[in-house]
Amino acid sequence: MIDFAEYIRDVPDFPEPGIVFKDITPLLGHGDTFRASLDAIAAPYEGMQIDAVVGIEARGFIFAAPLAQRFNAGFVPVRKPGKLPWQVSGQEYALEYGTDRLEAHSDAIQPGDQVLVVDDVLATGGTGAAAVGLVRELGGQVLGFAVLIELDFLGGRRKLPDVEVHTVVHYGDD
Ligand code: AMP
Repeated sequence: MIDFAEYIRDVPDFPEPGIVFKDITPLLGHGDTFRASLDAIAAPYEGMQIDAVVGIEARGFIFAAPLAQRFNAGFVPVRKPGKLPWQVSGQEYALEYGTDRLEAHSDAIQPGDQVLVVDDVLATGGTGAAAVGLVRELGGQVLGFAVLIELDFLGGRRKLPDVEVHTVVHYGDD
């Protein structure tokens, strides 16, 4: 059994003072560990019919694309505003100060599609909730929100009350 936390590096005060950044590059840099992390993220969904795996820019892409291959599903990028070239649908979400927005191509998900949403870290939950909202706006059925890391002490799950959240590595209160 791999202890994934040994391959996740805490970087204090990045990208700004007070944030402890979870650096997953050591995990990604070891082939066996990266593969095992994909196995662990995928585990609850094995055998399910999945039409699309949504990855949230940018580190969500790293996990969502190989998971889409594994499930023989499409990969759908959800991106920051202005990055996608075709017609988009968007969802605004609140930050500590101000708002941000996520977008997907309007034709990326068909009504009734079974969709798994994937990101690297669940922190305050705004990003995940916006991505889930976007999938639903396009008519998709959200099977779950799967992350490698959850910062339990930030309570992000509360923003996803009607979504099954699957986490591989939990960080609780210090
Ligand atoms: P949130 O909307 O607060 O749940 O933030 C989640 C998004 O921000 C994810 O896409 C993460 O990649 C990123 N993120 C938030 N906090 C951290 C952290 N401490 N370390 C690494 N990434 C983070």
